[in-house]
Amino acid sequence: MRDAQSIESGPGLDVLELIHESIFVRDLDGRIRYWNSACTALYGWPAEQALGQLAHELLGSAHPDGLAALEEQVTATGRWDGELCRVTASGQPVLIDARWSVHKNPRGQALGIVEIGRDISARKAIEQSLADSEYRYRNLFQAMAASFWELDFTPVGGMVRQLFAAGVTDLAAHFAEHPQLVREMMRRTQVMDVNEQTVRLFGRDNKAELLQSVEPFWPEASSEVFAQSIVAAVSRQQHYAKETRLRTIEGREFDALFTASFPPENMKKGILMVGVIDLSERNHAFAALERMQAELMHAARVSMLGELTASIAHEINQPLAAIVTNGAAGLRWLNRPMPNTEEVRTLAERMVADARRAADIIARIRDMARHQAPQQAPQLLNNVVKEAVQFLRHELQAQGVEVRLKLTANLPRVQADRTLLQQVIVNLLVNAMQAMADSPQRLIMVSSRAGTDGRVELRVQDSGPGIAEDHLPRLFESFFTTKASGMGMGLPICRTIVEGLGGTIEARNDEGAGACFIVSLG
Ligand code: ADP
Repeated sequence: MRDAQSIESGPGLDVLELIHESIFVRDLDGRIRYWNSACTALYGWPAEQALGQLAHELLGSAHPDGLAALEEQVTATGRWDGELCRVTASGQPVLIDARWSVHKNPRGQALGIVEIGRDISARKAIEQSLADSEYRYRNLFQAMAASFWELDFTPVGGMVRQLFAAGVTDLAAHFAEHPQLVREMMRRTQVMDVNEQTVRLFGRDNKAELLQSVEPFWPEASSEVFAQSIVAAVSRQQHYAKETRLRTIEGREFDALFTASFPPENMKKGILMVGVIDLSERNHAFAALERMQAELMHAARVSMLGELTASIAHEINQPLAAIVTNGAAGLRWLNRPMPNTEEVRTLAERMVADARRAADIIARIRDMARHQAPQQAPQLLNNVVKEAVQFLRHELQAQGVEVRLKLTANLPRVQADRTLLQQVIVNLLVNAMQAMADSPQRLIMVSSRAGTDGRVELRVQDSGPGIAEDHLPRLFESFFTTKASGMGMGLPICRTIVEGLGGTIEARNDEGAGACFIVSLG
C-alpha cells in the first residue's frame, strides 16, 4: 500500500491530468491507484469510483491471447503494447490501443503498471469498412464477366509530369506526333493483377505470364486509344471507354471495349483500373445480321421487279417499237429516187432518243437489281421521289392510278443510300396502288416537307380503303399480310431501311382518305 501511495503522490503524475490520453496506474494486485480525467471521459467512471477497483474487472478487459499472457509479458520484459477490448460504464464496447510499462521505485522495485491508452474504436470501424469494401471489390474483380486489370501507372505519371515540365501543353497532339513515346509508356505500365476472365481471354491458363508490361496486348493500330486514356486520366476525367482492338498473349487480335477508370484514391497510388469486354462475338453477329438484312432487302427488290416484269417489258417495248417504226420510215425515205435526207435526219434523231429511253429504263432496273453494299451520301429527297415514281410510271398508268406530287423545294439533303431510299418509296407506292385495286378513285399524294429539328418528312397518302384498326399495330411485323400472294416483308424492310438511317416510319388512316405513311429522316 505504501508503494501504491508513492505512485499516487509521485512527482510528475499531476501533469498527466493535462494529457488527452487516458492514463491509469494499477498496483501489483491489479487495483487502480491513479486515474486521470481522460480515463473518466473515456470509460465513464469518475476517479472516486475507479480507485481501488480491480482494473480488468471494472473495465472488462479482453484480449484474444488471454490477459494472463499479457501480464506475464509485462512482468518479464517491463512492457506490453497491444489492443484491448473493454466496456465503458454505460456498457458501450470500446477498442483501446494500450501501452503498459512497469513503474519502479528508485531502487528498481516494481510498484505497479502504468497504462497509456487511446480509444481506437472509430479508426477500427473505418479500417473494417475499408477492409469490407476492399473484400467486396476483390470479389467483384474476380467474379465479373469482364476482364479486369490492375495496372501500375506510376512511371507513366512521371513521364507525363516530365512532358509538362518540358513545356508540352497539348498532350493529345504530342502523343499523335510521337507514337513511339506512347509505346514506351505502354512498356513501362506494369500489370499488377488480373482476374480469371483476363487469363481466359488474353492468356493460356497462365496468370503469371500476363503480369508484365501491357505493351504486347496493344496492337500498333490501337496505340491512339491508349494515348487517349492517358489524356483522360491526366485531365481528371472519371473514366474513359472506347471500342478498339486488343491482342492476346498468343498474338490473336480481337474487338474489345476498353474501359479505364480513374478514381482519385487509386490515382494517388498510381493504380489504374482497366476493364475489357470481348466484342468479337457481338461484332460477328452484327456483321452477319447486316449481311442478312442486305440480302433480304436485295431479295425484296428482285421480287418486286419480278412482280413488275410485265409492265417493265411493256415499258421497254414502247421505245423499241418506235425505233422499228421510225427505222422503217427512214428506209422508205432513203429508197426514193430522190432520198429526203432532212426527213431521215429527223427520224434518226427520234430513234436515238428512243434508244436512250430504253437504255435509261434498263439502267434503272439494273440499279434496283444490283446487289451492292449500301453507300450513304447526301440525297435530295425530292429527286429520289421523282425517280421512284418514274420507275413505276408505266405500272401506275396501267392500273389507272394518278400520282400527285407536292414537293417542298430547298429541303435539307438526307444522308442515305439512294437505291435503298428508292426501295422504300417504291414499296409504299406499290402498296398504295394494290390497296386501291377496287377503289373507284385511285389517287396517290406524295408530299415532302421540313419536319422538326432539321428533319425531312415524306408522306404517301392514298384514296384506298385504309388500314383496319386492329391491323395497324401489326403492319410492320414480318410476314404480316392481308394479300393472297403477299409476303408481308415490304413494310418491315421499309422500317429496317428507314431506322438504319436514323429515321422513323409510321402508318395511320387519314380522315376521309385512305392510308397514310409518314417517313421522317434526319
Ligand atoms: P405485303 O404487301 O406483301 O402484304 P407489306 O409488309 O408491304 O407486305 O404490307 C403488309 C400489309 O399492310 C398489307 O398486306 C396490307 O394489309 C397493309 N397495307 C400496306 N399498305 C397499305 C395501304 N396503303 N393501304 C391499306 N393497307 C396497306
